[in-house]
Amino acid sequence: MKRISVFILLSIMLSNCATVPVTGRRQLSLVSNSEIIPMAATQYDSIVKTGPLSKNTTQTAMVRKVGKDIQAAVIEYMAQNGASEQLEGFNWEFNLIDQDIANAWCMPGGKVAFYTGIMPICVDEQGIAVVMGHEVAHAIANHGRERMSNGLLAQFGLSTVSAAMGENANLTKQIFLQSMGMGTQLGMLKFSRQHESEADKIGLIFMAMAGYDPNEAVEFWQRMSALGGQAPPEFLSTHPSHDTRIDDIKAAIPEAMKFYKP
Ligand SMILES: [Zn+2]
Repeated sequence: MKRISVFILLSIMLSNCATVPVTGRRQLSLVSNSEIIPMAATQYDSIVKTGPLSKNTTQTAMVRKVGKDIQAAVIEYMAQNGASEQLEGFNWEFNLIDQDIANAWCMPGGKVAFYTGIMPICVDEQGIAVVMGHEVAHAIANHGRERMSNGLLAQFGLSTVSAAMGENANLTKQIFLQSMGMGTQLGMLKFSRQHESEADKIGLIFMAMAGYDPNEAVEFWQRMSALGGQAPPEFLSTHPSHDTRIDDIKAAIPEAMKFYKP
């Protein structure tokens, strides 16, 4: 009897899994992007409306240019790997919000926000590409959806998840907002170390394909780490770093260089 229920549980788990692009890791996926992306778009619109958007046209243009470059690289990568359908429903947008917060994020569906406070740490387009590649990688790897799925599993258990969601759209939305950390202006909750490492690795490939030197990621993370200490940038609280991060990035650069198109 026990063996049968384990078997059923396993088959439910397997049929509710997705594969992360680039790394090939299997992840839990109890909700579909067609459910998540519209919720993210609504949330994004209200954040952008509140803004205020930056009036610095030079910086805004830099964010948008790098964003479009990374977007093109992602579309190309997914097409080359027969995974274009994973971009269905994406409606890319890149905005620079005028707030002295050192952070940036990308919501499911390609909705990106940079805050003016992170621009001095980025320094130039190369640095913006490091952050852009990393943030877009979180979205392409569906890290928000995975966290939401794990939240649903913890709250309801597998068998009742679909029933609970079908019956209660408000609850689904509430769990979505919690998983994304979107109740707040800052955008995202703290990512796990696994998600951080994965976004670093995937982000390097996207930036390389978009024509930005992946070695810039080492420089960026050295600048970011130097700002740690007593009042670390918000970016470090949502994207926690660890001792071996820069070494891990250095180790991933040779693979990314294979995609580099200067
Ligand atoms: Zn991150």
